[in-house]
Amino acid sequence: MFSIAKDGKTGVELALGDLLVDHLHGTETRGRVDLVGAGPGDPDLLTLKARKLLDRADVVIYDRLVSPEILELARREAVMVDVGKKGFGPSTKQDDICAIMVEHAVSGAHVVRLKSGDPGVYGRLDEELDALIAANIDYAITPGVTAANAASAQIGQSLTKRGRNGALQFLTGHDVKGFAEQDWRTLARPGAVVAIYMGARGARFLQGRLMMHGAAPDTPVTAVENASRANSRVIASSLSRLPADLEAASSDGPVILMLGLVPRAAAAQLPALQEEFA
Ligand code: SAH
Repeated sequence: MFSIAKDGKTGVELALGDLLVDHLHGTETRGRVDLVGAGPGDPDLLTLKARKLLDRADVVIYDRLVSPEILELARREAVMVDVGKKGFGPSTKQDDICAIMVEHAVSGAHVVRLKSGDPGVYGRLDEELDALIAANIDYAITPGVTAANAASAQIGQSLTKRGRNGALQFLTGHDVKGFAEQDWRTLARPGAVVAIYMGARGARFLQGRLMMHGAAPDTPVTAVENASRANSRVIASSLSRLPADLEAASSDGPVILMLGLVPRAAAAQLPALQEEFA
C-alpha cells in the first residue's frame, strides 16, 4: 500500500517527482570511484580501509598484479572487470580503462579501482584522476604497501640507513618510450639504494649505464620476485652478475631490483660473496 500524502499524491508519485527534480537540477545519484592500493600480494598487507571498500564495491576494476586472494575479498555481488596488462605486452588501453571507470560511476555505481602496491607508484594514477575530474566524479585515493616496502622487509634491510643512504630512489626500468634515462651519476654513488620497478628486462641496460657512471661491479643488487607472496624468490646478485643471474632464474612473476641492498642473511657472508663477484 502506498501512503497518501496531504495533497492526495501517492508515495510513488512523490518519489517520481523527486527524481524528476533531481534530474532537471542534475543532482541525480552519481557513483564514486575509490582508487585503492592492493599492496604487493599478501592479503594480510591490505589496509583495513581497502578491505572495507572492497566489501562495499559495486564494481571492481583491477590490474594483472592484484592477487587472486585479494580479489576474493570483493563483495560477492560486485562486477569484476579485469584490465590487466603484462609488461610490454597487450593491455587494455589507458583511455579505455578511464572510460570504463567513468561509465560505471556515472551510472551510479561505487567503483573500486584496484591497483597493485600503492596507486601512486608507477600506477598511472594521474591519467585516471584527470578523467574523473573531467567527468566531475567524486573520488578518493587509498594508499597501499608498495613493492619496495615488501621487498626490503623480506630481505631484512631498511630502505634508508643512517650513514649509508639518507635518500632513497624509486626508478622504473622502462617508461612509455622504452628504457628510461636517469641521473646515473647519483644512482651509481657508493651507498645508493634504489628500488627498480619493471627493471628485470632492462638489467643489461641498467648494468651498462651504472657501471659507465662509476658504480663498482660488485655493488649488490637483490632481485625479489613475488615479494610478500608464498611463491616468492630472492636472488642475491651484484651489478656484474645481474643479467646472467636473472636469466638463470627465469622469473615469470613480478620482480623488483633492490640496488645497494643485500639480504641480511647474505650480508653476514659478504666477504665470501665479494670474492665470488671479483
Ligand atoms: N603500484 C605498484 C607498482 C606497479 S608497476 C607498487 O606500488 O608496487 C609493476 C612493477 O612493480 C612490477 O614490474 C615489479 O617491478 C613491481 N612489483 C609489483 N608487485 C611486486 C611484487 N609482489 N614483488 C616484486 N615486484 C613487484
